[in-house]
Amino acid sequence: MSISTRKNTQQVLVGNIKVGGGAPIVVQSMTNTDTADVAGTVQQIMELSTAGSELVRITVNSEEAAKAVAEIRNQLDKKGFSVPIIGDFHFNGHKLLEKYPDCAQALDKYRINPGNVGRGKSRDPQFQQMIEFACQYNKPVRIGVNGGSLDQAVLTRLLDENRQRSEPLELSAITREAIVLSALESAAKAQELGLGKDKIILSCKISNVQELISIYQDLSSRCDYALHLGLTEAGMGSKGIVASAAALSVLMQQGIGDTIRISLTPEPGAARTKEVVVAQEILQTMGFRAFTPMVIACPGCGRTTSDYFQRLAQDIQGFLREQMPVWKQKYPGVEEMEVAVMGCVVNGPGESKNANIGISLPGTGESPVAPVYEDGEKTVTLKGDRIAEEFQEIVERYIESHYAVK
Ligand code: SF4
Repeated sequence: MSISTRKNTQQVLVGNIKVGGGAPIVVQSMTNTDTADVAGTVQQIMELSTAGSELVRITVNSEEAAKAVAEIRNQLDKKGFSVPIIGDFHFNGHKLLEKYPDCAQALDKYRINPGNVGRGKSRDPQFQQMIEFACQYNKPVRIGVNGGSLDQAVLTRLLDENRQRSEPLELSAITREAIVLSALESAAKAQELGLGKDKIILSCKISNVQELISIYQDLSSRCDYALHLGLTEAGMGSKGIVASAAALSVLMQQGIGDTIRISLTPEPGAARTKEVVVAQEILQTMGFRAFTPMVIACPGCGRTTSDYFQRLAQDIQGFLREQMPVWKQKYPGVEEMEVAVMGCVVNGPGESKNANIGISLPGTGESPVAPVYEDGEKTVTLKGDRIAEEFQEIVERYIESHYAVK
C-alpha cells in the first residue's frame, strides 16, 4: 500500500502532544458542555480522552467559563487525565485572558478566530493582546479562520481590488482567497509580535467539500505552518461522516493536515465521542494510523437469513473498542490486528484466512457450523448456541498469545 509522506510542516508542541513536522496525525475533539459546569465538562473531557481524543477543545466564552478552566485542569490531573485542553475564544478572549491568569496558564493552546477577535478599530489591538498573552504564557495558538465568520475587512479589501481588475474573478474565488489570506496575514502578524513559528497552527474551515479541498491545497502550498483540518458544520449522521471522510481523505492523501477534528452534529442523546471514533476510523481506514483492531464484515445478502452474523460483527467490534484503553498498554501492536466476521462460505473462508483471525458463519442451506481461521489456518469449527461467546474467547486467547509483552 502506498501512503504519501507527511508534508514537512513546522512542529508544534501542544501540552505533551506533537502536531506537524512528521508526527502522526493527531485526533482532536470539542466538548459541548457549558464550560462553567466543571463537573459536566470534566466528565465529557474524560469520555473524549478515553475514546482516543488526543487534544480536547472547550469553549471559553464568559467570565464563568474562564473561572472554571483552572479547576477543570486540576480535576483532570487528579483523575489521571493529562489530555491537553484548548481554549476556544471569540470576541472577548483578550479580556478573559487578562482577567483570569490561571485560565491563561491552565490552557495548553488558544484558538483565535481572526474574524471574531474584534470589530473595526478594536480588531488589531485585541488580536495583539491575545498574541501577547500566548507569548507571555508560552502557549501555542491556532489561528482558526471559518467561512461563516470570515474577517470582513480582508474580504472587503479583496473585493475592492477585484473591482479594479480588467477581468474580475468570481466571488467564490475571492472568498477562498480571503479565507487563506486571513490565516496567513494573521500568522505573519503573530510572528511580528514575537510568537514563534513553532507556536502557530492554522486552519481554514468551510462547509463545502470541494471548496475546503481547494482552500487547503492553496494554503499548504503557501506556508509550512502545521495545519488543523476539519470540514466545519459537517452535519448529522452519515451525511456528516461521509462529507468529512471525503474531504479529509483527499487532503491527507496529498500529505496535507497534521491534526483533524470531525465536526459532527450529534443525534439527540447520542454520545459526543462519535466524532472521535469517526476521526480514528478515517485515519485507520486510510492506513495513516491504527487505533483499534479492525473488523472486516461482509454486508450480508440472501444467503444470510438471520441477523446473527451482523450481531456477532457488532458485538466483536464493540468488545474490541471497549478493551482498547487497557489493551493499549497490555498488548502493544494489537491495534493493527484484523478480525473477519463473514456471513457464509462464498467469501467467508477467503476473508477469514486473510485476516489475523476470522470466522465464517453458516449461510442458508449450509451445515450449521462456523470454521475459525487463525493466521490463515483453520484451527477449530464452532457449532451450537455459544458460537459468539466461544469466538470472543478465541479472539482473547489469540491476543494474549500474540501481543502480550513477554
Ligand atoms: S460472504 Fe456470503 S453472506 Fe456475506 S455477502 Fe458474500 S455471499 Fe452474502
